[in-house]
Amino acid sequence: SLVGSFGHAVGDDILRHVAARLTALVREGDTVARVGRDDFVVVLGDLPGVDAAGVIVRRILDDIARPFAVDGHEFAVTASVGVCLYPGDGDSPAVLLQHANIARLEARSAGGNQYCFDTPAMNAAVVQRQALEQALRGALERGEFVLHYQPRVSLQDGAIVGLEVLLRWQHPELGLVPPMEFIPLAEETGLIVPVGEWVIGAACRQIRRWRDCGLAVPPVAINLSARQFRSGGLDRTIADALAAEGLDGAQLELEITESTAMTDVGEAVAAMQKLKALGISLALDDFGTGYSSLAYLRRFPIDYLKIDRAFVRDVVTEPGDAAICIATIRLAHSLRLKVIAEGVENEAQMEYLRRQGCDEIQGYHFSPPLEGEALAAMLGE
Ligand code: C2E
Ligand code: CA
Ligand code: CA
Ligand code: CA
Repeated sequence: SLVGSFGHAVGDDILRHVAARLTALVREGDTVARVGRDDFVVVLGDLPGVDAAGVIVRRILDDIARPFAVDGHEFAVTASVGVCLYPGDGDSPAVLLQHANIARLEARSAGGNQYCFDTPAMNAAVVQRQALEQALRGALERGEFVLHYQPRVSLQDGAIVGLEVLLRWQHPELGLVPPMEFIPLAEETGLIVPVGEWVIGAACRQIRRWRDCGLAVPPVAINLSARQFRSGGLDRTIADALAAEGLDGAQLELEITESTAMTDVGEAVAAMQKLKALGISLALDDFGTGYSSLAYLRRFPIDYLKIDRAFVRDVVTEPGDAAICIATIRLAHSLRLKVIAEGVENEAQMEYLRRQGCDEIQGYHFSPPLEGEALAAMLGE
């Protein structure tokens, strides 16, 4: 949990207003209390970490800073927030308050309308995150995103049967930022929606260019984030992107992670059906890393299960991983789905998976993700 202390010398009516706003902002089960003359304490329960705390406090600060009217007069209040974490920063309310107060003074001396944690390491993490977020906000306009394509091949005849689109962010100073670092941030900030839209459009344009060169382009698979998948209008966006390049749905596949699909199954099934109606194939990605209910799995209108590379890595040596791969292959086939294994790095893994009846593989063993041109050379062979 988290304690924030808000300090400001303002009138009582305004403080009451701020208190009401704070109460409206936090979630059920969180606590807002006034301590002393103009300090508030907000206790947020069950936060996954520093990042999540930062996001919530920023939202509170932004909301408080919006002007409001009391008795016909406009007011704007800014706050300096000190944040400390329980139990890391202490386990009694008095100690936590003391920590929060030190952090609050820090936030105030930094100019107000911001928040500080009470340890240098946390503050450094926050600064780094804010810098990354700032850079990410402009990345689309500055044209810093690039798409790479990784082929996947059939284990029956070795033909390239699909391409997965993998997003790359090339920042002039930060260098190549791995998706594992910026995709979760883009997801949290909502930037994933415009970025994801760009990926869809750029992939369609690339398909069109390859085709214009006379290449036979296999289906191209795009990863969808949870937020993008839930955003209304995704099917519209995709239909428009396809139409703009004269492509039909059979040219695309979409990868939805198991955990995305398993949150609110009813809604997920409805969203999947809309995408299927466009003629697009669907894959359940990172299979095995979340928890699937078999009953739900049957309801999804999907075409592929994609075994996560965590289970492929030691499939030859770890009986537990082998058992998961084998069970996934059997399960998929009994549901009439195809199975793709990702992260296949060597011959032994490939042969093992082939013997177990896996349909397709993807991984460094066949090819790493490549830029459009290099991939075209491969398709032309
Ligand atoms: P993923 O969907 O599980 O993608 C597979 C990841 O495995 C990719 O990492 C790929 O480069 C990597 N990979 C492929 N073959 C091998 C191999 O043989 N060995 C190993 N060790 N790794 C291999 P990458 O490109 O870093 O992407 C990481 C994750 O970021 C992806 O995981 C996906 O969840 C996400 N992502 C990438 N592009 C997009 C995108 O456009 N939109 C969204 N929403 N997520 C994306
Ligand atoms: Ca994927
Ligand atoms: Ca995957
Ligand atoms: Ca994966």
